[in-house]
Amino acid sequence: MKILLHICCAPCAIYPVQNLRLKGLEAMGFFYKYNIHPYTECIKRQEALESYAEMIDLKVIYQEGYDLESFIQKIVFRESQRCHICYHERLKATALMAKRGKFDCFSTTLLYSKFQKHDEIRSIGEAVGKSADINFYYDDFSKGWQEGVETSKRLGLYRQQYCGCIYSEKERYFK
Ligand code: SF4
Repeated sequence: MKILLHICCAPCAIYPVQNLRLKGLEAMGFFYKYNIHPYTECIKRQEALESYAEMIDLKVIYQEGYDLESFIQKIVFRESQRCHICYHERLKATALMAKRGKFDCFSTTLLYSKFQKHDEIRSIGEAVGKSADINFYYDDFSKGWQEGVETSKRLGLYRQQYCGCIYSEKERYFK
């Protein structure tokens, strides 16, 4: 079974890819960029993923362009719902790409994070999957949290200090 896995960053991909392969699924990655700010940070995360993907022989589709503007326009005046909108944008793009590429299903490394809202991600994934006519694959990848952290440190992979958008960067550093 072929699965397209939305990847937010290399460290978050470690456990999900390993877990999917153990279950016999053939995984390909999809790196979505518009929610990762600023651009220099996006490049750092992409480079880390490129190097990790090479190590584990994982094919990855890198989103073209860098449409930060359209991402921000969707959030402005709805800042309190920004993560819901962001999940929706990322999962919708993954579902459409998975459908176009004739994958059997799609999923996301967001389900690896202990800090993301799993129920919300699952319900958005299922809804966008239904409209794109492709199954959303749910698993609680956060059970491999510690393993992923240890492996990423051992490999010296770049580990980001905030979720991705400029709002999360402010939350992390503005005291
Ligand atoms: S905090 Fe993370 S999930 Fe929420 S909007 Fe920003 S990048 Fe997206």
